[in-house]
Amino acid sequence: LFFNLPSTPADEPFAVNGAYIQDTDPQKVNLGIGVYRTANGSPWPLRVVADAEKQLHQASDVNRHEYLTIQGDKKFLKLAANLVFEFENPENTSLASGESEDKDRVVSIQTVSGTGANRLGAELLARHIRPGCVWIPDPTWGNHHTIWDLAGVERKNYPYYDNNLKKFDFEGTIRTLSESANKNDIVILHACAHNPTGADPTKEQWKSIAELCQAKGLIPFFDLAYQGFASGNLEQDAWSIRHFFNFTPRLEFCVAQSFSKNFGLYGQRVGALHVVNSTGCTETSQKLLANLCHLVRGEYSMAPRGGSEIVRTVLGNRKLKSKWFEDLMTMSGRILEMRKALYDELIRLQTPGGWSHILTQIGMFTYVGLSEKQVHEIRSRHHIYMLKSGRISISGLNESNVKYVAQGIDDVVRT
Ligand code: PMP
Repeated sequence: LFFNLPSTPADEPFAVNGAYIQDTDPQKVNLGIGVYRTANGSPWPLRVVADAEKQLHQASDVNRHEYLTIQGDKKFLKLAANLVFEFENPENTSLASGESEDKDRVVSIQTVSGTGANRLGAELLARHIRPGCVWIPDPTWGNHHTIWDLAGVERKNYPYYDNNLKKFDFEGTIRTLSESANKNDIVILHACAHNPTGADPTKEQWKSIAELCQAKGLIPFFDLAYQGFASGNLEQDAWSIRHFFNFTPRLEFCVAQSFSKNFGLYGQRVGALHVVNSTGCTETSQKLLANLCHLVRGEYSMAPRGGSEIVRTVLGNRKLKSKWFEDLMTMSGRILEMRKALYDELIRLQTPGGWSHILTQIGMFTYVGLSEKQVHEIRSRHHIYMLKSGRISISGLNESNVKYVAQGIDDVVRT
């Protein structure tokens, strides 16, 4: 029955991680998988997550293992949406005049983390909007391709990264979308800390992208996997989305929100999909929510509740929330330190090539600038693991291995 099944490609980050685990060399370094690691190379359950878990454990609520609704935990969703759009900041004057109307424009549903939010949004748009195609940045997080392939939407690339200048290819993006995208096409956008390159548009460039989407009737689809983790600043990391939200004339778009990295809740699968519509009309919102719930019910009934309770507990408590900010600073601060350490070491070694992009790129990942052949060599000669594109996860670096990694890079660049 199953003998003639097609072969499918392995997921690269997980395959690289598997190869790393098998490697018995004592000096091996894992720069493949996108997970936070401490200075000792260990996972880090956030302090604030431990506090929230303790609180939840002590409360010992008899409902704690009950089903959520199909939409999910409404209190969690409200807090999650507020993190993205900041409806409740009294200083946000642009929203003050029509606050309730702004909130009404967003329909939120709990998902199986960021991947589930991407998948659910793709399914909704594929079924009901029937876009001509989806424009995916080249390169991107590999799973975007799988997700949109499964949704049955034709995929096209826009050139995201300028390999020579080692930055976001703004001209290429605008040119491609202006010349070739059509009304109701989807455009995938990484809200911050682009995976895999770490290269983001500037604010001025985001403004042009929003104008282009509006002028051509394109549907932006934001992937928000690193809010607060990228810069340590929630507002800065959501700036692009808030700009699109406040854009006039109004834009309609999706946001896939993940709590994997910013709460370190990778395996708990905590996330939300927010769909922004232009009117905020009750009938539209009800229909949207009903359709999203229908899709979720048929797939897996509802999202898991354990992790979302932790996030809800933290975001709903002023004290815990400020402790969370500290934890975010700890993680983003360590990443910045390691970027600097790697850069300094490559400069000290006078490794041929330019390395300043290691400092200017943002978030967990950097396109370090090695060719596929060099990636292969650094793995076979030095047991240093990274994706074949040369993407490295900065959080795999620490005081004990950064010199070794720089020497490995130096070696393969020179030979
Ligand atoms: N989008 C991007 C760009 C990511 O890097 C990730 C995490 N690797 C995700 C979405 C989703 O991750 P998760 O499903 O763990 O929330």
